[in-house]
Amino acid sequence: MAGGGPGIRGGPFGGGYMTEEEKANQPKVTPALLKRIFSYLKPYWKQLALVMFLIAVSAVLGLLPSILTGRIIDEGLIKQDMGKLVFYIVLSLVITLGASLIGVADTYINTWIAQHITYDMRNQMFRHLQKMSQRFFTNNNQGDIITRMTSDIGGVERVITSTFSSILSNSLTLIVALIAMYQRNWILATIGIVIVPLFTIPTRQAGKARWSMTQKSQACNDEINGILNETMSVSGQLLVKLFGKEKTEYNRYRSVNRKMIKLNIRESMAGRWFRVVLTTFTSIGPMLIYLGGGILMMKYDNNLTVGDISVMVALLGRMYIPVNSLLNIQVDWIRSMALFTRIFEYLDMPVEIKDKPDAVALPDAKGNITFEHVDFAYEEGKMILKDISFELKSGRSIAIVGPSGSGKSTIINLIPRLYDVSAGRVTFDGVDVRDIQLAALRDRVGVVSQETYLFNGTIRENLLYAKSDATEEEMIEVCKKANIYDFISAAENGLDTLVGNRGLKLSGGEKQRISIARLLLKDPTVFIFDEATSALDSISESKIQDAIDPIIQSRTSILIAHRLSTILAADEILVVQDGRIVERGNHKDLVGAGGVYQELYETQFSKGEKQEETGI
Ligand code: ADP
Repeated sequence: MAGGGPGIRGGPFGGGYMTEEEKANQPKVTPALLKRIFSYLKPYWKQLALVMFLIAVSAVLGLLPSILTGRIIDEGLIKQDMGKLVFYIVLSLVITLGASLIGVADTYINTWIAQHITYDMRNQMFRHLQKMSQRFFTNNNQGDIITRMTSDIGGVERVITSTFSSILSNSLTLIVALIAMYQRNWILATIGIVIVPLFTIPTRQAGKARWSMTQKSQACNDEINGILNETMSVSGQLLVKLFGKEKTEYNRYRSVNRKMIKLNIRESMAGRWFRVVLTTFTSIGPMLIYLGGGILMMKYDNNLTVGDISVMVALLGRMYIPVNSLLNIQVDWIRSMALFTRIFEYLDMPVEIKDKPDAVALPDAKGNITFEHVDFAYEEGKMILKDISFELKSGRSIAIVGPSGSGKSTIINLIPRLYDVSAGRVTFDGVDVRDIQLAALRDRVGVVSQETYLFNGTIRENLLYAKSDATEEEMIEVCKKANIYDFISAAENGLDTLVGNRGLKLSGGEKQRISIARLLLKDPTVFIFDEATSALDSISESKIQDAIDPIIQSRTSILIAHRLSTILAADEILVVQDGRIVERGNHKDLVGAGGVYQELYETQFSKGEKQEETGI
């Protein structure tokens, strides 16, 4: 009976019911949105036209065997003509095979188009997201970004291969089936159409009931998982044991578990009842046509043949799936539009930090940096930096110190334009950084951040990220300078040692030194270090110190310092508190001034280090 032949497709989203959330957030389908979606299809219009043609052919061919059933019965079986019987049977089979083959071609081209469109979209999205500012990545959940890149765009592929072609193919199948039925006999055709809702109403009702039950059992399942997570973890069990709550927890678990079995039983029974209702209704349709056809044939219409009646029954069976799919397509359609809306929402986010049209390059950068009355807020109205002014002359070094959260990292973020100032300006060689080409600026400013990030790959690959054409000698030289060469040469594969998840696990200090080597290879004009606050062992610390010290002394550099030795190596110290520079000068001036620096010195910089470095 209602078997899905070639050319009959369902929607991509499975269940045809929307959650309350989806209902509330239905996207507005505007002509502009449709036009925009269409713009992605446009480059592939030739292939699309071909697909539409193939879908149409396969939908029509898919119905022909049902129509030929009439011939098989009337001309073959009833007239007992062996030749015709075999002919129509073979013809039916050939057509079915043909329709299936066309279906293969259509699926191939359809998938090809969908893949190419999503390929374009993914690339466009990736390029766009790469231009987004640091603010975007801090404010947005990484999971959400990845979902949009992967499953949302993946959803678009399903929309194209499934929703769009399902609408086309199902509508065509339906129209052709209707025409064929009305051509045979309008009375039986009308009986058939009147019956169609009988198929669909119970399907929808039962589907709805199952959907709501699935939702409930899902919630129940979440609750069970929650309890398991809470009680089966080390700390959870500790709490349970120490408070003697075993019984309470068991009761809680048992009661949800019981709720779950009830729901599960009801859910499977709903499925079973659904099949009973469906089978009953689907067999009523053909029976009514047999009855109506029989009455017509026997009492009124001598032209009606047994074959005609069989064709009607067969066609009616072929209408069931398209009607059902089309009734559900509205939900698929809304979900598809929601997908596109979500994707476009990301693509439309303005690029906050970008090149001005007349941005300048930095042909021979000196590395003079100034902050002129800089104010900065991450969020509107919440000033983080206030009136920051200082000058870093080429070849000199500045250490920024201050309590945690005072704004030190924020200051250095403004130099490579990870963020733009709210007021005032930051200049590089006298030019406002906002007037410099971003690529040039970031090429000239190098940062080793606290959270050193190494890619999964070899040490060599990580180094080459900074300078793709670096020679072996250059790499070894920077590794030596960064005090990591001994470590690398002791490793079995040297520079080709894998690091990260797939390879060697490096300590924080080793990672820092590799990233210092990476920066040395990049050879920027200005070096920026955000010294790690996390405790490193004293050997690691002194190795990093030995790597950084020569840089501080010989290169233009600015560093957030937590250790006295680094602070002492710098030419000038800026003390930041609550987003303001509250003191500045050198160690000698500041240490006796009785201000923030002195307090920091007494409380934070390690005692041993103090004695060692200053002899106090
Ligand atoms: P420091 O480096 O001195 O520890 P930061 O510059 O990291 O301080 O932070 C200064 C202030 O800015 C803190 O109050 C911090 O909470 C806030 N802050 C830092 N990064 C962000 C961000 N991306 N969005 C909003 N506030 C931030």
